[in-house]
Amino acid sequence: MTKIRGFAIRGVLKYVKHSGYPGGVAAIAETLSSEVAATYEDEIQRGEWYPYPVYQEMLKAVCDRMGEGDPEFMAEVGHFTSQFEGNTMFELFSGQTTVERLLRNAAPLWPMYCDTGAFETEVGDGTLRATLCGFPEISPYHCNLLPGWITGMGKAAGAESGEVTQPKCVSRGDEHCVFQASWK
Ligand SMILES: [Zn+2]
Repeated sequence: MTKIRGFAIRGVLKYVKHSGYPGGVAAIAETLSSEVAATYEDEIQRGEWYPYPVYQEMLKAVCDRMGEGDPEFMAEVGHFTSQFEGNTMFELFSGQTTVERLLRNAAPLWPMYCDTGAFETEVGDGTLRATLCGFPEISPYHCNLLPGWITGMGKAAGAESGEVTQPKCVSRGDEHCVFQASWK
């Protein structure tokens, strides 16, 4: 089974806490399966690996409860988590603060975050095409979170504005998920 790193889960929990949602994470966790809910009884550890449903079910619960079930809402969560992780990412990439370099160097780090799938990137002048291969079971909520994450990282690296679309997605029957980003 696919596994995901604790820091990704913690970013989502931090979003819920930061938003001031009534009842916080505990209220969101009411809709989780009992198996997954049990994992949330202990503190999620940054560096530990968790079964993918722990993340997947939380993303869906957050979207249903906080975003009225609209998958587009997840971009906001992704944007928040990119700022939250920003400091760690910039420590890794100290001195590489152009958008192009940051995103090109961030893509190969996917395996630090999730043990399934890999990113291939093509970087142009102000554009990035990132293909996520080998992860046909990715949650559509996760797919919808990534554009917000990419935009957030771009802004953190100095872009004035950015736009990210997903022209291809496994949940729409495509072979891979493709993210197309442009920024100024
Ligand atoms: Zn996708």
